[in-house]
Amino acid sequence: MKIICIGNNYADHIREMNGSLPEKPVFFLKPDTALVHNNKPFFYPDFSSEIHHEVEFVIKINRLGRSISRKFAHRYYDDIGVGIDFTARDLQRECKKNGLPWEIAKAFDNSAPLGGFVNKKGIADMNDISLRLDINGKTVQKGSSSGMIFSFDQIISYVSGFITLKIGDLIFTGTPAGVGPVKIGDRLQAWLNDNLLLDFYVK
Ligand code: MG
Repeated sequence: MKIICIGNNYADHIREMNGSLPEKPVFFLKPDTALVHNNKPFFYPDFSSEIHHEVEFVIKINRLGRSISRKFAHRYYDDIGVGIDFTARDLQRECKKNGLPWEIAKAFDNSAPLGGFVNKKGIADMNDISLRLDINGKTVQKGSSSGMIFSFDQIISYVSGFITLKIGDLIFTGTPAGVGPVKIGDRLQAWLNDNLLLDFYVK
């Protein structure tokens, strides 16, 4: 399986990063070794001193497809969950400055803690799902799927024009504003609507 991550998908986050609004989705990949399951701790890596949290909706692909039209994209996922796209912001800044790919800042081991999923049948309005991250009991990121520049369906359609999607692939769909550093000892809890789907410590 593969993990596809969308960058720059919420206007408020783009503003805080001093970026400009994208005309089409930007995506990058993480390997399966990035995943952390079952609320296991995230161990702070020694190659960075500025690991940032990015809480994101995650959709799980449930059938094989390529060049999927937007109209049919909703058939390619049933489950939506939350995950963290951990980013070594110091390394990413270096990469950006030098025009280099971002892998060392984004794709490292354990950079993608993944929580539980809910079936989209249980969600009243896919265009108004709330997303929240608390650190040590204080809310640091809050967003809604209504704030996404590219919808889940648009993302599936766009990505599948370049890369075949397979069963079990995960798409991290971008982060709202409020990204910031984590430190050892922090407890991260992420909600999708009222569902606490992810709850782990940084060690
Ligand atoms: Mg991200």
